[in-house]
Amino acid sequence: MSAPLPQKLDPWRAVHLGAAFAGSATLAQLPRLAAAVAGADGPAQYALRFERDEARQAVALGQVSMAVRLICQRCLKDVVYRLEAPIALALVRATTGADGLGLVQTPEVADHLDTLPLGEEPINPLDLIEDELLLALPLVPMHGVGECQAALSSGLTENAPATEAAARVNPFAVLATLKSKG
Ligand SMILES: [Zn+2]
Repeated sequence: MSAPLPQKLDPWRAVHLGAAFAGSATLAQLPRLAAAVAGADGPAQYALRFERDEARQAVALGQVSMAVRLICQRCLKDVVYRLEAPIALALVRATTGADGLGLVQTPEVADHLDTLPLGEEPINPLDLIEDELLLALPLVPMHGVGECQAALSSGLTENAPATEAAARVNPFAVLATLKSKG
């Protein structure tokens, strides 16, 4: 059995222990995500484990999924997206340099890992979960074909004013051509 994530976690100790966590987080526990979505259909479900991989690199591996409500950019109604995000982070030490600026040691990490610079301070591990959900959000949320409540034609008109303007101009251009011929 894996325990839910604690509010504070020493990631280096978690790696040392090979700690594994699983649980759920409500939208209220993920305020940055809450600001980016219209709502959620249930909590986020996550699994996250800390360990050293074959290359002795400290890693945090897992996955998170959550059904969120976004605003369809075509009909402006809610659209439910099921976010599914793998978590594959290489934990690297960020140290403070003599000039007070943060320095990050950048070891070679495998291609499938994203680098996560960490100091010696405990972290809120839900931040990692929230980051992955934010990255998984679609840039332009829209209903699938046939599910959108906006007629395709009106949707195109709203989203493509340049095309509409061009369509308005064309008939006059045709008239002008006819006039010059007559
Ligand atoms: Zn729609």
